Amino acid sequence: MNPPQETGTHHDIGWTPIAEEAERAARVLHPEEHQLPRPTHRRVLTVANQKGGVGKTTSAVNLAAGLALHGLRTLVIDLDPQGNASTALNVDHHSGTPSVYEILLGEVSLVEAAQVSEQSPNLLCVPATIDLAGSEIELVSMASRESRLKESLSQEALQELDVDYVFIDCPPSLGLLTVNAMVAAHEVLIPIQCEYYALEGLGQLLNNIDLVQKHLNRTLVVSTILLTMYDGRTKLADQVTQEVRNHFGDVVLKTVIPRSVKVSEAPGYGQTVLAYDPGSRGSMSYLDAAREVAERGAASREQQ
Ligand code: ATP
Ligand code: MG
Repeated sequence: MNPPQETGTHHDIGWTPIAEEAERAARVLHPEEHQLPRPTHRRVLTVANQKGGVGKTTSAVNLAAGLALHGLRTLVIDLDPQGNASTALNVDHHSGTPSVYEILLGEVSLVEAAQVSEQSPNLLCVPATIDLAGSEIELVSMASRESRLKESLSQEALQELDVDYVFIDCPPSLGLLTVNAMVAAHEVLIPIQCEYYALEGLGQLLNNIDLVQKHLNRTLVVSTILLTMYDGRTKLADQVTQEVRNHFGDVVLKTVIPRSVKVSEAPGYGQTVLAYDPGSRGSMSYLDAAREVAERGAASREQQ
């Protein structure tokens, strides 16, 4: 027997337990009644992949929204001059707004730059403005250029913001901004698109993570891999999924994010998909992924 198709044309009850679906929908529609467990320690995750358009920003903002809607205080740091995470969370990011750029320059604190997203009072965002565009070059001549973000992410600042989770959304490069993110975090979350060429460049990313581990941040680990933009109609998507699972094992979340128009429409409305269309497959998948992230965080005994 074949597993059900992502398109939902398969109505075999054995494969689609209605009770499970109903419970899943209830979690989406009444998030306040379905709190996620708090992590054993504050988790800082860098969302990185130098390949462009693989779902870094989409995953950062929707995982963050999933955690926040279920009671966990979450901060998204937009570290990409494109400012896509700021757009998706609908926070002010016109040039001159206190942003991650001023944080890197040491001109404002994390607390001063953090804004509350209208999606949830538990969801904060440090925006990126276009001012960040020249920073890769500006950083080169600065003192402690690799650890400027880390310095601002002090325990005191994170305590003051009272956050359980921090997601740092990286630009599609392995330059100094991404290095700053890797030095500031304990964990790397790599989104991988279920498409051809998806694994190309992954070796280079892992090498860079190794280098950061050796020289700048000994505790950094690749803790989470999320498969995105899965298209159940293609064999290729399954092949990529299988290859990634064979290679990375349990690091890969069980939840796979399907390709879904709703996911790509949401940022156009300054919303996460969870707010834009809570009952959609994309929203439910990100919620499932957020649940997995939270359950791992609650089970982990690792100290920060
Ligand atoms: P960049 O490298 O430019 O920062 P990125 O890795 O952050 O890109 P996203 O911006 O999250 O990638 O996604 C790339 C594009 O794909 C966006 O237009 C986004 O809306 C769309 N997209 C992301 N995930 C999905 C999905 N599951 N289904 C359909 N479209 C998606
Ligand atoms: Mg992005």
